Amino acid sequence: MPIANHVVDLIGGTPLVRLNSVVPSGGATVVAKIEYLNPGGSAKDRIAVKMVDAAEASGELKPGGTIVEPTSGNTGVGLALVAQQRGYTCIFVCPDKVSEDKRNTLRAYGAEVVVCPTAVPPEHPDSYYSVSDRLVRETPGAWKPDQYSNPAGPESHYETTGPEIWKDTDGTVTHFVAGVGTGGTITGVGRFLKEQNPQIRVIGADPVGSVYSGGTGRPYLVEGVGEDFWPSAYDPSVPDEIIAVSDADSFEMTRRLAHEEGLLVGGSCGMAVVAALRVAQEADPDDVVVVLLPDGGRGYLSKIFNDDWLASYGFLRTPLSGKPGTVSI
Ligand code: PMP
Repeated sequence: MPIANHVVDLIGGTPLVRLNSVVPSGGATVVAKIEYLNPGGSAKDRIAVKMVDAAEASGELKPGGTIVEPTSGNTGVGLALVAQQRGYTCIFVCPDKVSEDKRNTLRAYGAEVVVCPTAVPPEHPDSYYSVSDRLVRETPGAWKPDQYSNPAGPESHYETTGPEIWKDTDGTVTHFVAGVGTGGTITGVGRFLKEQNPQIRVIGADPVGSVYSGGTGRPYLVEGVGEDFWPSAYDPSVPDEIIAVSDADSFEMTRRLAHEEGLLVGGSCGMAVVAALRVAQEADPDDVVVVLLPDGGRGYLSKIFNDDWLASYGFLRTPLSGKPGTVSI
């Protein structure tokens, strides 16, 4: 019977869809992998189940334990789903730039949410990294998955996301593009695809200002991607290239994806698509560029999809009621 025993069993197996309207003619085919169709709404469901499995196997996470993680939301949702299935408590620590919608989502799944300032360095006692370390020390039975250093993150993408892309394109994929946050997605998928065909090019997308594209870690607004330090989940030898994308272009493309492609997705998806279109423009017309879209847009309705919010940063090019604008790629 095609009835899952639990939503956790429905993680992975997300579809590919061709992008049409946003892709300029003459370039390669661009295909999006729709990770918001995971049960928790993002690619992070995949790493959550793998990290918990590994911690149970190693004995780091014991029955009745508490999961404490600094997360911008998506990893928290994935962990909360797995925690519900297996009887763990969750405490999540978020930077204050994470939308209220996302925080409320975590609370809806039964997690406790602690909010910390974004504008402090990682070593500051109030940073979300420091606060989560303190909570781990002070909470009995606590386990911190640490998605930034946990090898189960990239492994989950090596074992599931990469093989799905290879199989669903019948091995025709020539380029893979993904935003880089912890680096787990690009590392795991890129490694798997290059093992199948070393000619496949792997391209990371990064917000302007982040360290992956040579920045200093200065603030940017797109959530879930870019870093101000180098996490060990990221293997910098996997990507062939990193493309930096501005907040303005990321948000404009995010709005176009909803408006023209029927894909209500998050800002890091718009960022990845801008990078994918740059890649497709220079690729062969026969090439197949797969771009991973990590999450959905409902957590960003009061930001990216709100004209006033966008205008307050000087990013509003086309009001939602207007005709779609153009993104310089
Ligand atoms: N987009 C969003 C919205 C995310 O939450 C994340 C994870 N931080 C990413 C992209 C990047 O994925 P990864 O951590 O695997 O590099």
